[in-house]
Amino acid sequence: MIDFHCHLDLYPDHESVIEQCDSAGIYVLSMTTTPKAWAKSNSLVKGRKKIRTALGLHPELAHERLEELSLFDYLINETKYVGEIGLDGSTNQKQHAAAQIHVFEHILKTSSVAGGKILSVHSRRAVDDVLKMLGQFPDAGIPVLHWFTGTKHQLEKAIKQGCWFSVGPAMLKSKKGRELVSLMPRNKILPETDGPFVRVKGKETTPLDSSLVISDLSKVWGESIDVTREILLNSFRTICTICGTGCYDY
Ligand code: MN
Repeated sequence: MIDFHCHLDLYPDHESVIEQCDSAGIYVLSMTTTPKAWAKSNSLVKGRKKIRTALGLHPELAHERLEELSLFDYLINETKYVGEIGLDGSTNQKQHAAAQIHVFEHILKTSSVAGGKILSVHSRRAVDDVLKMLGQFPDAGIPVLHWFTGTKHQLEKAIKQGCWFSVGPAMLKSKKGRELVSLMPRNKILPETDGPFVRVKGKETTPLDSSLVISDLSKVWGESIDVTREILLNSFRTICTICGTGCYDY
């Protein structure tokens, strides 16, 4: 299966998690939260054919890591994937809005110059601003909005702008989340877990829990597990094809 947004380097026992993903044959897109973490994080999955490491600077760390933007630029051609990036408008983050915007804008600019990337984007309480900035940098690549929690109206806007969505167990737990998912284009959804941050039944999720996403989505869509899995795999193949060389071999 597929986990298009998790943080492999943040599991205390990352080696065993990586081993499990590899033997289960799961396609994994592992985020980084700072450019400094990328090299080590990427080396952890060396030789693992179905795991890729995205280069990112998480919005909650943006204000502390401005000096790492030059490292971001230096590494940009090492990967086709950028994440975790975006904006966070939560109350405790608002004071850092200027730094977040500076970092997000810089990353979108660099990604444009580099020919476009697959972007895993955080937009908690900041959907309008995220969409506005994505609109300003149409060449930055394909935005995949991770764990979307906006309104229906914002979702419509995002769909019109060509966004994709990665959807996880946390989102599918709530009625509102399931309703939003039901309104997303089926051919632009990819499973995610956001592990180890997201816990299910008290346990931190791993990419193996992407199977939960398939069963939850099958209920939302009213399709069998097999059909649901096939739809998701097709979307995955589509995004890999758009992305081109350097993407997953599926
Ligand atoms: Mn995340």
